Amino acid sequence: MTGHAPPPEPRRVPCPTCKRPAVFAPSNPSRPFCSERCRGVDLGAWANESYRVEAPPGRDNDDTLPD
Ligand SMILES: [Zn+2]
Repeated sequence: MTGHAPPPEPRRVPCPTCKRPAVFAPSNPSRPFCSERCRGVDLGAWANESYRVEAPPGRDNDDTLPD
């Protein structure tokens, strides 16, 4: 039987500012940020170029072979 389908689970992404899960859906106008506040913080930081993402050394290649 095809009774009922589970409700679509909203996609969540880590907020770039506070790293907390943020709902990545139209219901969240601040996406990918968790809130308007985090969004403003991030934009301000980037504008001042005082925000440095300590990204781990990684490969940008899309065609890397899986290990
Ligand atoms: Zn946040």
